[in-house]
Amino acid sequence: RSTLFPYTTLFRSQPLPAGSGKSTVAKLVADRLKCTYIDTGAMYRALTLRVLQKNITVTDSEALSQLAQMVNIHFQTISNRQHVFCDGEDVTQAIRSPEVTATVSSLAQCVPVRKIMVAKQQEMAKTNSVVMDGRDIGEVVLPQADFKIFLTASLNERARRRMLEWEDEGFKPLLTDVKKVLLKRDNDDAEREVEIGRASCRERV
Ligand code: C5P
Repeated sequence: RSTLFPYTTLFRSQPLPAGSGKSTVAKLVADRLKCTYIDTGAMYRALTLRVLQKNITVTDSEALSQLAQMVNIHFQTISNRQHVFCDGEDVTQAIRSPEVTATVSSLAQCVPVRKIMVAKQQEMAKTNSVVMDGRDIGEVVLPQADFKIFLTASLNERARRRMLEWEDEGFKPLLTDVKKVLLKRDNDDAEREVEIGRASCRERV
């Protein structure tokens, strides 16, 4: 049986997760356990990048679903760093752009898109032992996971980390702007979580 180690941040209450350090910890755990690390946020971001490139409106759920079905997203480790590929193109850096960051939550609200993405994520976990990172993993994607981990951090700490990440990737944001983006995304994600009626996580480590 494939051992699943989904790494999940599930909750309804504040504070919410972007920038809480989940990817850092998830990557370390995956590395230690020799599992595949799957960053589901990167998958939503890769799809968002394509949506922006194709000028699709984020409310056009039919066009979004079609694209979500067609797009091929996969991960590959190159020189110890995980790269994200979308239809064969390395989009690791492009998916962290401010435009993608500002749009991804709206796209992630589209229920048909979520169903497609969840199916893709379940498929990835079928044949591999995985550490899967994302807020709906423990309840929706892999409810039978062997371990579920809940992680959160203060807004200041999350903003500090996100700023360093962005600087690393060649963007130069102001701390106040980073906080604004995080808060907006927290609100967008929180609204969506209520919409799809997600239960709170019972298993916490
Ligand atoms: O983890 P990250 O901040 O890169 O995720 C980007 C966005 O993708 C989140 O703000 C959320 O809107 C969406 N997301 C999601 N479900 C997941 C992972 C990410 O809706 N499992």
